[in-house]
Amino acid sequence: MSFYPASFERLTDCLRRLPGVGAKSAQRMAFWFLSLSDAEAEDFAAAIVEAKHSLRRCSVCQNLTDGETCAICASLKRDKSKICVVSDPRDVIALERSREYDGVYHVLHGVISPLRHIGPDDLTVKELLARMDGSVEEVVMATNPDAEGEATAMYLSRLIKPLGVRVTRIAYGVPVGANLEFADDATLFRAMEGRREI
Ligand SMILES: [Zn+2]
Repeated sequence: MSFYPASFERLTDCLRRLPGVGAKSAQRMAFWFLSLSDAEAEDFAAAIVEAKHSLRRCSVCQNLTDGETCAICASLKRDKSKICVVSDPRDVIALERSREYDGVYHVLHGVISPLRHIGPDDLTVKELLARMDGSVEEVVMATNPDAEGEATAMYLSRLIKPLGVRVTRIAYGVPVGANLEFADDATLFRAMEGRREI
């Protein structure tokens, strides 16, 4: 039997679903939420609902945005002849931090993984190929340097190269198997600078 009221249990159950949060942290967070004023708590809940309702995929690069196209695709300063392919919206944020890259992106929303039954049709591969309309000169593969990231980069390279587009892979100073998201800015800067044709 639980020591806590049902509504408190419900809150901790929700918080436990957050990545990396265990029972104890969830309880600590629940108490923290209860210490907020009504207005602060409502603001918190509303932020989740609003993000959920307003965020969608950019019609061009599939990155998250709250408009029709994202700020990067809409910018006149970005080189549209260069597309950097990443698996996750968080990788766009990481690469933008390095300030080395001036092209645009394409977010796959995952990688090909036979083990997890994720195939090309589950990703935004079709949308990427649709962008190869003759105006694109280079596609930079920036999926993570693990087995699935490498296999996905090779798969896409085989589809894109025959279209006469240069395909490159970013050079990794990060250890094999590491996540792009967690690489420091200097490493990402060098990785983009030292990309090679594949
Ligand atoms: Zn976009």
